[in-house]
Amino acid sequence: MITHAEARDLIETPLDRLDDLLARAADVRDRGRGHIVTFSKKVFVPLTTLCRDYCGYCTFRRDPGEPGAHTMSPDEVVALAQAGARLGAKEALFSLGDKPEAAFPEHRAFLGRHGHRTTLGYLRAMCELTLRESSLLPHANPGVMGERDLARLREVNVSMGLMLETVAERLSGPGFAHDCAPDKVPARRLRTIALAGKLAIPFTTGILIGIGETPAERVDALAAIRDLHERYGHVQEVIVQNFRAKPRIPMRDAPEPSFADLARTVAVARLLLGPDMNVQAPPNLSSREYPDLLAAGLNDWGGISPLTLDHINPEKPWPQIARLRDDTAKAGFTLRERLAIYPEYAQRPEFLDETLRPRVAALVDATGLVKESHEYWRSW
Ligand code: SF4
Repeated sequence: MITHAEARDLIETPLDRLDDLLARAADVRDRGRGHIVTFSKKVFVPLTTLCRDYCGYCTFRRDPGEPGAHTMSPDEVVALAQAGARLGAKEALFSLGDKPEAAFPEHRAFLGRHGHRTTLGYLRAMCELTLRESSLLPHANPGVMGERDLARLREVNVSMGLMLETVAERLSGPGFAHDCAPDKVPARRLRTIALAGKLAIPFTTGILIGIGETPAERVDALAAIRDLHERYGHVQEVIVQNFRAKPRIPMRDAPEPSFADLARTVAVARLLLGPDMNVQAPPNLSSREYPDLLAAGLNDWGGISPLTLDHINPEKPWPQIARLRDDTAKAGFTLRERLAIYPEYAQRPEFLDETLRPRVAALVDATGLVKESHEYWRSW
């Protein structure tokens, strides 16, 4: 592994020396992860699109009354989970805005009608319902959490996540991406990740690049993740996500990071985090160039999900997965399906609530990956 200072130098690698950097990172990945590249077959469950924060790049959040503003009912959650399970999905990825009850009386009324005071309480109930009514394994990504909520959610999630995004406090200042986003204060997010470590929750985190941070600040965020993982051993994957401009967001005119910049950051993440870490970049955020990220040292493509309920059609396989399988093979790698809990944690009982262990054990082989007999997408 390289030092924090070395990583700060390497993140400035010029284009004409980029290939050397990528090759070095790919070597380190090969040493730790070989030529297996993983993904999780998931269903995206947008539990609520309401959020009290206003991040400059967010395409997800809505205010009450806006088109697309919605909090899913228990029936909708069950229908989505069961439809996904019929297609062979294993993960229910619960995504939601942060603490909408703090900002919106309509949302407090919704929660009250369902017997809850907080969105995190409702989330826990929906994870429990998913476990009861479907074969899916929940992975919740609900924003900043305290110790009590983390402990309660651990009982009904095989892993959880929170993107650190950045450690640059200045991005919370006026005119920056996290102006008006109290839950993006880096110290609050670092605290949640540390508490998850204390509670032995397999945890997904990562950085978001292109939101106004400097290259050095990107490295600082990766180093902060490494420090927490060295302390608690719970970070199961680190995502390098690139900002994409969209018409309806406040940052619609901000420049997107180039593909070279993304590849450079993936490579530095691999070198800083070492051969054993799972490093991921979402393929759908780089369109046709995405297979080239394999040369930068990643070993996971993240969760692949139909984007909306309309896409859940049991007659049709998910075309994204067939394409991913073929593109990964062309680059000389083998695609394998993993659960929302990575193999190295699926095989360590201390990282999983005991009620969830039999369900995980039934799905994985001796390596902790999904049994090949359950990888239905292989024959597509
Ligand atoms: S916290 Fe920010 S990124 Fe997350 S849903 Fe809210 S506005 Fe969007």
